[in-house]
Amino acid sequence: MSADLGDLGAAPAPTPAPAATDAQGGPLKVLTFPDREALGRAAARELARRLLVQPELSLALPTGRTPQALYRELRRLGAEGLVSFREARVFQLDELLGLAPEHPGRFFRFLREHLLDHVDVRPERVYELPSDPDDPEGACRAYEAQLEAVGGLDLAILGIGENGHIAFNEPGTPFHARTHVATLTPETREATRETFGFAARREEPPERALTLGPKTLMRAREIWLLAAGGAKAGIVARALQGPITPEVPASVLQLHPRLRVWLDGPAAAGLHGSGGGRGR
Ligand code: PGA
Repeated sequence: MSADLGDLGAAPAPTPAPAATDAQGGPLKVLTFPDREALGRAAARELARRLLVQPELSLALPTGRTPQALYRELRRLGAEGLVSFREARVFQLDELLGLAPEHPGRFFRFLREHLLDHVDVRPERVYELPSDPDDPEGACRAYEAQLEAVGGLDLAILGIGENGHIAFNEPGTPFHARTHVATLTPETREATRETFGFAARREEPPERALTLGPKTLMRAREIWLLAAGGAKAGIVARALQGPITPEVPASVLQLHPRLRVWLDGPAAAGLHGSGGGRGR
């Protein structure tokens, strides 16, 4: 395959793997890549293709370590004129609560720095979740209303926490919850502390966040779940092939008719039938 990136056809090919199945024995659409860079490049190419055929796509975008390669490649494709967000709408998956609007730990700031400030998305089509609303519950209802007003999400792109959370839906969140105020578990706060610079700034991350709920996410017409690194292998297997339970919030995704899972080899290693072995 040519290394020339002047067209959209040069995406890294997923490693062929025997078909994995979900807990019901249904087919699971899992794409596995050698590493997180290759995963990010392939997902970026596919998103560029989607935006070409459906420019007005409504997207919910994640923050964290996993999507960084995806955003890097989207920035590059954007600079080359190979992807346009001009007609797209961008929603946040979640936002920390109790931070000033320009706080460097805000997820909105992460999305701006990693993607939004570098592509041609129109500011009026970017839907910001407030980090310091007077009425957090009201802000959640308003965000749901904004989503509904544009016809809901076409594509929600998700990461997964080591405890199985998607967005900030922590274990035990009812599947029927919509956008709501979530209390972060100690392990999620710990991950947030490192990934979003709170440790480096010697600050404590917030204890609460606003998050799209499982129901909000499940109403998206398509869902992509991205995971990279061996630390995610166990939870990826539980989420996709274990029992569907609010104790593993990502397990609800097994019920989605259009779920695509993007993994690197280490994150795929726990899936039965993935060819990746059974190791955790
Ligand atoms: P990560 O976070 O991409 O930084 O691993 C994923 C998540 O917790 O949702």
